[in-house]
Amino acid sequence: MNIHEYQGKEVLRKYGVSVPEGKVAFTAEEAVERAEGLSSSVYVVKAQIHAGGRGKAGGVKIAKSKEEVKAYAEELLGKTLVTHQTGPDGQVIKRLLIEEGCDIKKEYYVGLVLDRATSRIVLMASEEGGTEIEEVAEKTPEKIKKVVIDPAVGLQGYQARKIAFSINIPKELVGQAAKFMLGLYKAFVEKDCSIAEINPLVVTGDGKVMALDAKLNFDSNALYRQKDIMEYRDLDEEDPKEIEASKYDLSYISLDGNIGCMVNGAGLAMSTMDIIKHYGGDPANFLDVGGGATAEKVTEAFKIILSDQNVKGIFVNIFGGIMKCDVIAEGVVEATKQVGLTLPLVVRLEGTNVDLGKKILSESGLNITSAESMADGAQKIVSLV
Ligand code: ADP
Ligand code: MG
Repeated sequence: MNIHEYQGKEVLRKYGVSVPEGKVAFTAEEAVERAEGLSSSVYVVKAQIHAGGRGKAGGVKIAKSKEEVKAYAEELLGKTLVTHQTGPDGQVIKRLLIEEGCDIKKEYYVGLVLDRATSRIVLMASEEGGTEIEEVAEKTPEKIKKVVIDPAVGLQGYQARKIAFSINIPKELVGQAAKFMLGLYKAFVEKDCSIAEINPLVVTGDGKVMALDAKLNFDSNALYRQKDIMEYRDLDEEDPKEIEASKYDLSYISLDGNIGCMVNGAGLAMSTMDIIKHYGGDPANFLDVGGGATAEKVTEAFKIILSDQNVKGIFVNIFGGIMKCDVIAEGVVEATKQVGLTLPLVVRLEGTNVDLGKKILSESGLNITSAESMADGAQKIVSLV
């Protein structure tokens, strides 16, 4: 799960990681109130969306007066911001962070990620901050310093100091930078993060080390024990189809293609996507309706697939184990009628009650193409679409 920058900074503050003073605002009036509460004379008005690259896209404004804060807030709120991370549709700005303007001397990068190759948390840092770290990794990989953290002892002070030195943090600020990284690491572990990225970490004119940006991602499987983080969830930033799916306990992830997939079991769902690709098609989603789906669940799944405008055909690929093929068939027929499906629909059923399932489909009088195997089904839907 993602959270907003201002929320990430709230979390970090609790761990002694220094961040600029600032608060969230939902209206231009609130933005001015927030600015009045700050001790600085320069304010930064920052669009809060779950995507980076806001600076370059015009989502970060420096205001020299409260009037400017108001003007920028009015300009940004309600506007769709398109950054290299939002995709072409962009994201509507509904919240702003109003924070003190910092006198930046130099920008650095600090990040913590869970490295799957070593199964450990890795601290990464670079003196090339403010720019995209992917670009640094590609062009000047030697400028990214890393330390692999032993989970038994955690990040050690000497490791943090060493990495601060290696990215050329001014000597007198190395202690501060190390404290920063230790706090960041503690937050990462205690809050079950999967990513904590500070880009930029800055050294200011008055000798402070601070996080000017904060991107925290959390492991969804751990959210049950992170109630305070759950409170930060912003449904406006999530795909409405995915939210709808989670209500019905369906595992749904939308993708860019045009073939909607309805499958039971994550493994089968993945291989269905693979086989569609193999025959030259593109899946519009990953959807696992689960082992014990009911006709109602199947109907909801259908509606969710169809709410995606890009979908030009649907491939239902079900193995009836716990779930019976006739139940699926009923669900498919019911859903097809309810939504008035006009798109090509290919159904491949296998397993318990398969004959009954096929009978229900063929007697429904609906335009459903039956498939004998996964490969057959994939080929059929690809050619129909
Ligand atoms: P994004 O990564 O989405 O572009 P950032 O929060 O990193 O957004 O902001 C982009 C740039 O704006 C930063 O690299 C920094 O130069 C500037 N900036 C952000 N916050 C402040 C601040 N409080 N004071 C001064 N400059 C800032
Ligand atoms: Mg940034």
